[in-house]
Amino acid sequence: MHTTDAITKAYAVLDGGTLSEALARELIETPREYAMDLYSLANKVRLSVQQKFDACTIINAKSGGCTEDCAFCAQSASHQADIDTYPLLSEEKILEKAREAKASGASAFSIVTSGNGYKTPNREFEKIISAIRRIRAEVGIAMHVSLGILGDETLRMLKDADVSMIHHNLETAPSFFPNICTTHTIGERIETVRRAKALGMAVCSGGIIGLGETPAQRVELAFTLKGLDVDSIPINVLNAIEGTRVTAAPISIREIINTVAVFRLVNPRMTIKIAAGRETALGDWQGLVFNAGANSMLIGGYLTTCGRSITADQGLIRSLTGF
Ligand code: SF4
Repeated sequence: MHTTDAITKAYAVLDGGTLSEALARELIETPREYAMDLYSLANKVRLSVQQKFDACTIINAKSGGCTEDCAFCAQSASHQADIDTYPLLSEEKILEKAREAKASGASAFSIVTSGNGYKTPNREFEKIISAIRRIRAEVGIAMHVSLGILGDETLRMLKDADVSMIHHNLETAPSFFPNICTTHTIGERIETVRRAKALGMAVCSGGIIGLGETPAQRVELAFTLKGLDVDSIPINVLNAIEGTRVTAAPISIREIINTVAVFRLVNPRMTIKIAAGRETALGDWQGLVFNAGANSMLIGGYLTTCGRSITADQGLIRSLTGF
């Protein structure tokens, strides 16, 4: 099918229709001369269902030393990346960061820990619960967590502590996952998402693009997330860190923005969030993703790399709201 015909066909999403996986695979390869037509459609779809921009911020509350071997991750103990490693931060330190997040205008604050998760509660997990309870009572910002693989009991404890969103990335398409991790399966990740949804919790789950996956595998990830009915989809762009073992060549700006647009068309009602890597991968083009389907971003730095200043991102959000 010619690209213009594919984009015309995709306008059905504006009338409540759905995109087939085959059509999404064509759209994600949209060449430069038609790219703005694709972005315009994704923007119309976003405006028809999701007008609001939001921004969340994270704290890397426990860094490095992870037993898992995710190929892109500087926190894996199997890599020799030059990062700060530390055990779980004190409750006071986590609270201090939550206060800063609230003062910066972030809509949510997320506690992130390295490691393969908390299938059952332990002493460290109880400390996290205690920090969450204090943040809800003393700071009042919405709480998200990204704590790895979780079991029913730990999920229930998070729900009881008033956590409003569980973050757990699938990282990549099921068909590509064995290329990036050998110590656990994507099925375990999917199970955590399913458990959280079954408990009625909101879930933020997405992945990283540029790991060496094909555009068709990016589409596969978009449809896998649709099937899980997640609420928010973060799209990270690989920012390869020395000492990790991803060797894929960087992907182009067009490939990144095409991916954002197709994720919006496949998942019209969900929050589409541009996260780590946007500054290095998109440079001066990062504002364009918000006119190509994205309506959210992670601000104030990432797990092991810095982002832009919060003030610069707040300026971007303000200018977009008036666009
Ligand atoms: S992505 Fe998470 S589970 Fe994988 S190595 Fe990094 S910290 Fe460990």
